Amino acid sequence: ATPTSIMVGVGRAAELGVLFRNGEALQSLKSTQVVALDKTGTLTAGKPVMTDLEIAKGFDRAQVLAMVAAVETQSEHPVAAAIVAAAEGEGLPIDAAQAFDAIPGFGVTALVAGRRVAVGADRYMAQLGVEVQAFAETAVRMGGMAKTPLYAAIDGRLAAIIAVSDPIKPSTPQAIRALHEMGLKVAMITGDNRRTAQAIADQLGIDEVVAEVLPDGKVEAVKRLRQGGRAVAFVGDGINDAPALAEADVGLAIGTGTDVAIESADVVLMSGDLLGVSNAIALSKATIANIR
Ligand code: ADP
Ligand code: MG
Repeated sequence: ATPTSIMVGVGRAAELGVLFRNGEALQSLKSTQVVALDKTGTLTAGKPVMTDLEIAKGFDRAQVLAMVAAVETQSEHPVAAAIVAAAEGEGLPIDAAQAFDAIPGFGVTALVAGRRVAVGADRYMAQLGVEVQAFAETAVRMGGMAKTPLYAAIDGRLAAIIAVSDPIKPSTPQAIRALHEMGLKVAMITGDNRRTAQAIADQLGIDEVVAEVLPDGKVEAVKRLRQGGRAVAFVGDGINDAPALAEADVGLAIGTGTDVAIESADVVLMSGDLLGVSNAIALSKATIANIR
């Protein structure tokens, strides 16, 4: 494409709320074969709510929820806000937590009223040596309903299973359809539970799912998708999406996402909805066609 047609294309994209941070992205986006998307905050709203809480035998529901909320008050993870809101909604007194520690991709732990409370994914419980078998069926059911199962342990004993649900953004189904109509493969990359991720992928007709990825593993996931010379565009919003945005052939950041993601991306989707992805690819194709 000529410099002039690139400038025109970048200008048209801006009118549609798609900000190209460099001209090369407008040229290369037309060749995209796979669009890989982060789940939380990209396909979904990133604002989960707590939907279920089942308590293990011998534990008190209100006490467990209050203790878990005390730990989550210290966490910046979106699921933490969901659990704290649920406890506050029930009017529970939330104690201060000491010696808080977050293990990215696993969970969080702290001391609450002298007791060691841990909350997180099944792999976190496995790491702590906490047996979660009692809730195995419940976890499968929650995952099948596109909810994320989380476990709480108190002093090393399984105390509860919690489900949080993060709604799909209203524009996401249409955005995925538009990509499929362009003949593209659509993939999801997420740190979330495999079953939960698959249930969301099934709802959206997503072709490939890479789940239970650790925060620093998304770049490896993009590398694998690129194998065989496939041109991969990656769409994400979070701090841990930044390396994957840089690794992809074209990185697209959600404009409402973190600054780190935006700075690592070639394209910024200003409105935050995913229709910008197919719009950007269509514009790239039109810009290149114009000069032929
Ligand atoms: P994602 O943002 O896709 O959920 P993360 O790598 O941030 O991926 O987290 C992976 C998993 O670790 C979460 O799905 C959750 O199960 C667990 N986790 C992380 N932080 C917390 C937290 N503050 N409370 C409970 N679970 C957590
Ligand atoms: Mg995200």
